[in-house]
Order: sequence, then C-alpha cells, then structure tokens
Amino acid sequence: ARRSDGGGIVVIGLGRFGCHLAASLTRMDREVLAVDRNPDQVQRFSAQLDRVVQADATEDGALRQLGVTSFGRAVVAIGASVEASVLTVLALVELGVPQIWARATSQKHAKILSSVGAHHVIFPEAETGERVAHLIVSRLLDFIEFDDDFAIATVRVPESLVGRTLLDLRPEERSGVRVIGAKAPGERFRFASDDTALAQGGLLVVEGGIDQVQRFAGRR
Ligand code: ATP
Ligand code: ATP
Repeated sequence: ARRSDGGGIVVIGLGRFGCHLAASLTRMDREVLAVDRNPDQVQRFSAQLDRVVQADATEDGALRQLGVTSFGRAVVAIGASVEASVLTVLALVELGVPQIWARATSQKHAKILSSVGAHHVIFPEAETGERVAHLIVSRLLDFIEFDDDFAIATVRVPESLVGRTLLDLRPEERSGVRVIGAKAPGERFRFASDDTALAQGGLLVVEGGIDQVQRFAGRR
C-alpha cells in the first residue's frame, strides 16, 4: 500500500516529463494521482500508474471532484501550453494546495508561474542542458551545484595524481577544493583522510567552487 498521509502527489500533464516524474514517484512508493486531459495518454499510462484520470486541470471544479485538496503537493508538468499551465496553477492556488511545483518552458513562463502563486518553478530543459554541458566539457561524473558558486562533484582520480596521498597533495591549499570521499576500484566510498592514497581508476568526491572543482578534475 502507498502512503496516503498528505504525502500524496498530484501530477498534472503526462507528456514526456510528467510521465517520467509520475513513474519515479510511484517507484518511490508515493501515492500518485495522475491527471491528463487527453484520453489516449490516460489509457497509455493506466497500467503503469495506480490512479490516472482524465480531466481538464484548468477547471477547479474538476480538480476539486478528484479530491486534489487532500493532497499536500501538486506538480504541473504541462509544458507547451503556457495558458493551460498558468490556469492550472491558479486553480491549485485557489484550492489551497500547500506545495505547488510548476514546470516552465521559458524565463517568461517561469515569471508568470511564480506570480500566480507556484511555490517552486522548475525548468527541466534549461537545467538539464546546463548540467550536461558541464558533464561534457569536464571530467565530472556527477555534480550538484549550490547558489551558482559551490559544488560537490564525483570525479575520476586525475592521472597525474595517482599514488599521491592527500597529505602530500594538500588540495585545499593548492586547488581550493576539499576531497571528502574516495573510492578505490571495486571498493566502497570512504571518508577521505590525510593518508588516503589516490588509486588508479579510483573516484573522488570533491567540494568547492565550481571552477576550482572543474580545474581539479581536469578539462577534456
Ligand atoms: P513534454 O515535453 O513533457 O512531452 P510537451 O510540452 O511536449 O510536454 P504538453 O503539450 O505540455 O507537451 O503536454 C503535456 C501533457 O499535458 C499532455 O499529455 C497534455 O495532454 C497534458 N495537458 C495539457 N493541457 C492540459 C490540461 N488543461 N489538463 C490536463 N492535462 C493537460
Ligand atoms: P526540445 O525538447 O529540446 O525543445 P524537441 O524534441 O521539442 O526538443 P526537436 O524536433 O527535436 O524538438 O528539435 C530540436 C531542434 O533540432 C529544432 O530547432 C530543429 O530545427 C532541430 N533539428 C531537427 N532535426 C534536425 C536535423 N536533421 N538537422 C539539424 N537540426 C535539426
């Protein structure tokens, strides 16, 4: 049985983005109510998702009937139609849904969503594009960026540093980054310490400014 303690999430719009989101939440054992106005989409996802209903989400009466007010969170995953996306957010605001996430497809769209009352605006194409750009030009395997100037990244041990220890390398002084975890091939990640030796083919978890982290990992 799924959680249904207000931990449930309404996902509106089962396009490419919305269907992956709804499927991921379902795998995370969350109660998901998926809504799409197109009966073909509803039919398509009815086997994969627990509750998929056909409704026009721009109508607050329809949302109310579906019991949307008992959900703590809603995600408006509609992208192409700015009008449908904005009207849906507005309907959710009027119903008093506590946490509304909305997907924007442009900066202007994002601005409108915030001003009508979306609590979180996401911009998946822009975010993924930027993220993949970083991954392509650098040797970062994965990273999270905070406030545009701080990052935590997983990087391959740079070839030039194999065999050295952190005590010997002093990455904080020399590169402005701190190595916080290390993993030798076939082993698990461990906290890094002064005597951590950088293994050939190993991985490191590094934190610091995004530029410093990129420089430490080495350009491609
Ligand atoms: P994606 O990139 O995620 O595929 P998209 O921008 O190509 O999305 P959209 O036109 O935004 O596609 O549609 C996403 C889904 O939202 C579609 O399945 C569509 O039927 C649904 N949708 C659009 N408007 C509404 C609405 N008013 N109520 C419910 N669902 C809607
Ligand atoms: P996105 O989700 O990134 O907006 P999309 O799936 O909605 O992409 P696509 O039809 O894939 O849109 O087109 C993305 C861009 O690629 C368009 O600007 C299109 O003109 C361009 N494009 C499509 N096919 C080709 C091609 N064969 N050669 C060069 N450019 C192309």
